[in-house]
Amino acid sequence: MAVLPIKTVPDPILTRKAQKVKGFGEETKKIVRDLLDTLETARDPEGAGLAAPQLGYDKSICVTRKFFRDPKDQKTILHEDIVLINPKAYGKSKEVDLDWEGCLSVPNVYGKVERSKRVKVKAVNEKGEPFRMTANGVFARVILHEIDHLNGVLFTDLAVGETISEEEFTGLLEADVQE
Ligand code: ZN
Repeated sequence: MAVLPIKTVPDPILTRKAQKVKGFGEETKKIVRDLLDTLETARDPEGAGLAAPQLGYDKSICVTRKFFRDPKDQKTILHEDIVLINPKAYGKSKEVDLDWEGCLSVPNVYGKVERSKRVKVKAVNEKGEPFRMTANGVFARVILHEIDHLNGVLFTDLAVGETISEEEFTGLLEADVQE
């Protein structure tokens, strides 16, 4: 297991298109392990996904975290980590949402990004088996953000309007709670 430091802007690996994965041996397994281990420890902000270039690996691999309520206890939030290798987003819905995003590689910056509300993804899992899935809402946003990383695109390239600092963002959240 390895928790690696997260690359931050302006590291050039963050703005390059990642190489397609062709083998599913030890090297790919290690990158997946490092992504999962590092995502697990990412706090402030808590990560909902991580892409291989963020750890310095030039490979088209990302992990995305799907949160859901425990069916047995609605108050408990569980999560499942989904590994996407060579992912491709297709069938993006025309319906979009404009919402705040942040990124572990762009510290202290938050901005609003327009994303499709629903997206279909095809990818390969750690064993090299192809699969397809559909994601909605926040999870669709996370997936699109991570796939952008694999294409060298950062959320700040897409942000609508001004970006704000962590402090301002926290202030907004608190104002929301008080309303
Ligand atoms: Zn990011």
